[in-house]
Amino acid sequence: MATQEEVFKNLVSHCKEYGFVFPSSEIYDGLGAVYDYGQNGVELKNNIKQYWWAAMTKLHENIVGIDAAIFMHPTTWKASGHVDAFNDPLIDNRDSKKRYRADVLIEDQIAKYDEKIQKEVDKAHKRFGDSFDEQMFRQTNPRVLEHQQKRDALHERYSKAMNDNNLDELKQIILDEGIVCPISGTRNWTDVRQFNLMFSTEMGSTADGAMKIYLRPETAQGIFVNYLNVQKTGRMKVPFGIAQIGKAFRNEIVARQFVFRMREFEQMEMQFFVRPGEEMKWFEYWKQFRLKWHKALGLGDEKYRFHDHEKLAHYANAATDIEFLMPFGFKEVEGIHSRTNFDLSQHAKYSGKKIEYFDPELNTSYTPYVIETSIGVDRMFLSVMCSAYKEEQLEGGDTRVVLALPAVLAPVKACIMPLVKKDGLPEKAREVMNLLRFDFNIQYDEKDSIGKRYRRQDAIGTPFCITIDHDTLNDNCVTVRSRDTMQQVRIPIDELHEMIRKEVDMTNLLRKLI
Ligand code: ATP
Repeated sequence: MATQEEVFKNLVSHCKEYGFVFPSSEIYDGLGAVYDYGQNGVELKNNIKQYWWAAMTKLHENIVGIDAAIFMHPTTWKASGHVDAFNDPLIDNRDSKKRYRADVLIEDQIAKYDEKIQKEVDKAHKRFGDSFDEQMFRQTNPRVLEHQQKRDALHERYSKAMNDNNLDELKQIILDEGIVCPISGTRNWTDVRQFNLMFSTEMGSTADGAMKIYLRPETAQGIFVNYLNVQKTGRMKVPFGIAQIGKAFRNEIVARQFVFRMREFEQMEMQFFVRPGEEMKWFEYWKQFRLKWHKALGLGDEKYRFHDHEKLAHYANAATDIEFLMPFGFKEVEGIHSRTNFDLSQHAKYSGKKIEYFDPELNTSYTPYVIETSIGVDRMFLSVMCSAYKEEQLEGGDTRVVLALPAVLAPVKACIMPLVKKDGLPEKAREVMNLLRFDFNIQYDEKDSIGKRYRRQDAIGTPFCITIDHDTLNDNCVTVRSRDTMQQVRIPIDELHEMIRKEVDMTNLLRKLI
């Protein structure tokens, strides 16, 4: 049985082999943590975006979309706090010359204590069987208590150092815990330094006139600076939201885990403007709505959990992550944040413009509070791929790789296959294709045996394969083979459209959300 790590490695290769994700500029050996989406990847990604966009804008009459530019006036990033504080603490190992995030090294160490505790629990569970009382064991076992105490002390010291921005203390923790570089195995660490994650470039042609600008590290600020424009031109009434999908850029220090952490990625963000004092009600609403959105895809309810933030960003008064169970553990896919009126107030201060809302019901003006939902398209893509990828053993010793994608997200909905390349079957197949291609993404394949063609479609997650054979010319029926069950049924060509629509129509998914 392959380990989770091996399966993940296979998935990454699969993504390349079947045109989902390629390393960027691969002919030049790639570029760190930058990826290109191929012919199938782009379709899947577009379907995810479409699902999000429809759920946010179509299902909420008080949410509208925008598409702001990636370049923004540099003062935006001063006002938002990114110039001064969008930093990660980095540390280098002098022997391996490898760079790490100091916070990640310490968090990994905390996780090691958790693992040790879990191991003790699992061992005891095996020993005592059904009569095992886990809670009691955790509270009384001396080894567990010792690990727990060390873990809690470390956690407290680490949280304080992060909150105080105390870089010396972060280094001291790394030394005291005896954390070694995984490559060199040594403790030869440099001091911890702050590293700003924003990419910058220059705009303008002359040296004097050039202005330093940034590639946006989040799409949210494009929404905040357009708050007044949209509120006025759309005659929006609080509460209302603005949604946006677009690229964001972060010069991540440690980039690993494929498209989970990229330097160029895509976000789907929505800022929901509410009355001050009503933010917790809306925070709760958005937490539940967003979780429902994820679960409706049917990837497995047990794969999601909320992770509430203990250390809140300076502007937030509540924050939670929706985490998904990736092969490398539960990881953040989406953040839901209550950002108070921090961003709008900062932009009002830096721009000198009055950014307020006159509430006719309350007969007063205020700066709205904001609930933000922020999800990475690429992380969403990865969670879908991870749960869909299956290496299956079939009867008779055969194996197959199948992507059990939600049909609504699959890049190709059906593949039309004439049994042979002659006898008028290709022509009939093209006729069938023309009935379907206006509404669905359809492929045509006449090469190799039917078995091989099925495998190719399984590998890209196509829900239906439709075979046209000699009988079709007489009875106008085709054989439809289903990806998941591999079962075949014979149905009239007239019924194909409705059969596919029932499975792949996004409306069915959206209906689950209201
Ligand atoms: P992390 O702690 O993993 O760095 P974050 O908390 O900084 O993430 P946010 O700033 O809340 O992330 O961004 C919102 C969403 O954008 C994340 O939930 C994630 O899905 C996505 N995202 C952030 N950074 C990256 C990245 N480097 N690559 C891909 N997606 C990202």
